[in-house]
Amino acid sequence: MSAPNSKLRSPDKSVLVIVSHPDDETLGCAHLLLLQPAQCHILHTTTGAPAEERFWRQAGAESREEYAVARRKELLAAMEVFAVAPERLHMLPFGDRDLPRNLATLVHQVHAHIEALTPGCIYTHAFEGGHPDHDSTRYAVGRALEMMRREGKPVPELREFTGYHARGGEFFSGAFLDGGVTAVDVHLDPEEMVRKRRALDCYYSQQRVIQRFALSPERWRPAPAEDFRRRPHEGPLYYEIREMGYRFEEFAGLTQEADASIGA
Ligand SMILES: [Zn+2]
Repeated sequence: MSAPNSKLRSPDKSVLVIVSHPDDETLGCAHLLLLQPAQCHILHTTTGAPAEERFWRQAGAESREEYAVARRKELLAAMEVFAVAPERLHMLPFGDRDLPRNLATLVHQVHAHIEALTPGCIYTHAFEGGHPDHDSTRYAVGRALEMMRREGKPVPELREFTGYHARGGEFFSGAFLDGGVTAVDVHLDPEEMVRKRRALDCYYSQQRVIQRFALSPERWRPAPAEDFRRRPHEGPLYYEIREMGYRFEEFAGLTQEADASIGA
């Protein structure tokens, strides 16, 4: 499926993009930001600044706080490329890689933002074992919507987009883990790719990761129900291979604790 059918590109209603880190929104959802910047809100669930010193030292920052400020500036510059107004950007105060240990609070904060912004459609990460914050965000969005359903409130449509995961022990991006749910490919035209590239270029601190992603197509699908206690795929997960601070068993235990705390 390709670009001309605008129905595939735009949900025709207000959109909330919920992602973990500044740059995830452009890597996964640039087609929305290109097409309807005035209808998109973006919620970042972290500042993008990890506790580990080497990450912010590499970017020339003296502290985690300074690095968070730098990443915020990169985000603002990138969103200017799409003409997404700063008041449409929302950010939770968690650090990079801190989400799995804050899941219950994360669910409540995501729930509060969805209630306040009343989107018709939400786009978020897939559950794929790529980054512990991505899986945490996917978990929190799913649980927040379940809470709204239980409360008898209108529940926005949930879509997920491709990020990355391990395939044969290597980094793999641009595809979902299983083909069980129909995915939609959105092809960007050359001019759109130039604008996406310009936005990504604003993320100076993230260039080494960004260069591993193709600019087009972007791929989304209706978010399937997930069991967060089951390993998303067999074999080591990407965040386990890259030692991002969690084993899946720990993540699953943390979702179980959060479920007990929020009454899921
Ligand atoms: Zn990310």
